[in-house]
Amino acid sequence: SVSIMLFTRDLRVRDNPALAAACRAERVVPLFVFDDAILGGRFAAPNRVRFLLDALDDLRGSLRGRGGDLVVRRGDPVAHVARIAAETGARAVTLADERSAFAARRLAALRELPLEVSVHPGITVVPPGALTPSGGDHYHVFSPYWRAWEAARWRPVADPPASIRLPDRVEPGPLPDLRDLTTGPLSPRLPRGGEHAGRERMAAWLRGDAAAYEQAQDDLAADRTSRLSPYLKFGCVSPLELAEATGGAYRRQLAWRDFHHQVAAAFPDLPRRDYRPRARRWNREQDALDAWCDGRTGVPIVDAGMRQLHREGFMHNRARLITASFLTRNLGVDWREGLAHFGDWLLDGDIADNAGNWQWVAGTGNDTRPNRVMNPLRQAARHDPNGGYVRTYVPELAAVPAPHIHHPWTLPDAVRRSLDYPPPIVNLG
Ligand code: FAD
Repeated sequence: SVSIMLFTRDLRVRDNPALAAACRAERVVPLFVFDDAILGGRFAAPNRVRFLLDALDDLRGSLRGRGGDLVVRRGDPVAHVARIAAETGARAVTLADERSAFAARRLAALRELPLEVSVHPGITVVPPGALTPSGGDHYHVFSPYWRAWEAARWRPVADPPASIRLPDRVEPGPLPDLRDLTTGPLSPRLPRGGEHAGRERMAAWLRGDAAAYEQAQDDLAADRTSRLSPYLKFGCVSPLELAEATGGAYRRQLAWRDFHHQVAAAFPDLPRRDYRPRARRWNREQDALDAWCDGRTGVPIVDAGMRQLHREGFMHNRARLITASFLTRNLGVDWREGLAHFGDWLLDGDIADNAGNWQWVAGTGNDTRPNRVMNPLRQAARHDPNGGYVRTYVPELAAVPAPHIHHPWTLPDAVRRSLDYPPPIVNLG
């Protein structure tokens, strides 16, 4: 028998239940299709496409090491599955269970084919829909979700396939070059993608900073979070393995990720819709938005975050909260503008996590505390007390001493004018 394993955002051989299921057939076609519908849209951010290519190259190496290969195609994934099934006599296709609106359409189209389609968990620790409150199909609020998540029984970790045999006559095809896929600018400091790089980072983090996570997770200058989010986004590491290897505060963050995925599954319009439309009125002030995007608002903690985003395709969670709050609460700009800009640069940029977090900060979602406001200066004093984070990302301020670094407008006039740094675009008092 022949099975097709359609990889999507589960680019690993370890703990990949869909791959393990496909490998029960005698021959397997491990397939990845560059979907023109994704490449043609805004979601194909250059940073992520680069990371994806690393991940596919690594996956191909792992599959070759087991006697197989990665079959690479470009176009419509459903059409390619149909074609390969016709060429190889495959009767079944397996893939990871994903619940975005896009994935749901893809799955519905696959189910139209004369193939047995099976979906398997692996993208989250607990699949969306597995936990439901009494009287509802998903959780609106995190705390009860977290309690249910902690008490849930997890599936067993799937074994990696020992060997893989491709059918005869299937041409693997080359991996495309980055510039055939996207032409936009890349961040200068990007980590390498892929399962090997992800596992190395996971192992190093578990040996090192994991023990101090709870105390250090909000310390901006210390930079001691795991930075595993891009690997989770593309499935280079298994969220279940990570949850099993960690505990406490870190597991709670993984539960936040699952939480957003189950909200997004229930609300496909999460990235677009204001659920409290009358509560807020947004402006679309282009100058303010541009200053925010460029990291030139004149508020150092905000600018540091935005410049980290451009430099690394990553931003510390605390800085994401501060910059997002500043855009929506201090500048009054529509959160969807911020969502789109984050989506253009973040390596971990994900519809469910990005939109769920923006809704939370902007107070437009189902949250119970929609009026939460973060004062950027108080946040800076608390989470970057010595200004180390600002100094790393805003070199114009590198020489400014700690008492002034978060509000350079309080420096003597002559000193302030000597800095190539703008005055704040809003008065923060
Ligand atoms: P760690 O602190 O090491 O956390 C471990 C893992 O838990 C992360 O890798 C991530 O997978 C998960 N996690 C942690 N916090 C959250 C959270 N609030 N929501 C969902 N998952 C979480 N995360 C994304 O993965 N993709 C996004 O597009 C994204 N957009 C965001 C937008 C805004 C406005 C905000 C405030 C947060 C956003 N986050 C997003 C959540 C969070 O900032 C990142 O997951 C985190 O900074 C990644 O760094 P880390 O891997 O070092 O995290």
